[in-house]
Amino acid sequence: MGSYLEIHAGPYMLVSKIPTKTEVVKQTCVDSDCILFDTEIKFPFCPQCGGKSEHKTHETETYKDVRDIMYKDEFEGQMVAVHNGGAEFSQLFSVLLPNHYIKGLEEPGIDMDEVNIVEIKPERMEREIKWFMSEYTELIAAIVAEFGESAVQIKWGIIKHYN
Ligand SMILES: [Zn+2]
Repeated sequence: MGSYLEIHAGPYMLVSKIPTKTEVVKQTCVDSDCILFDTEIKFPFCPQCGGKSEHKTHETETYKDVRDIMYKDEFEGQMVAVHNGGAEFSQLFSVLLPNHYIKGLEEPGIDMDEVNIVEIKPERMEREIKWFMSEYTELIAAIVAEFGESAVQIKWGIIKHYN
């Protein structure tokens, strides 16, 4: 895995991270003065304080991870998830980029070593968004089915990332 800066100029997908609460039932010591309070123990009595243990429901918050879908065999390698926009943004969204060049269209990258100014016409954005949606129909549908339509946005933009 190299680490060089890349500028992606092209279509991308934003997927909102959706918090999901998972409930787990744990048998724990229920004496708040005990050092094993809320700690899972597998015995009817706490080995520390001798108090009775009880089964309690604990909630943990996790996020649905879009990579669980992206890395399924049928979609493997189609898109890449990139780090982006700082910690706060990363907590809200996953950013997915196409993993191959756009056939017959402009290359998605902009090589800023070679040029200092790049004109981007609106037609290019429209064309590439259309390409993205038809190229990745099945993956997009699978993500929408899991996350909901309002969680998925397809945009065109410039994204700095390390490859
Ligand atoms: Zn205890």
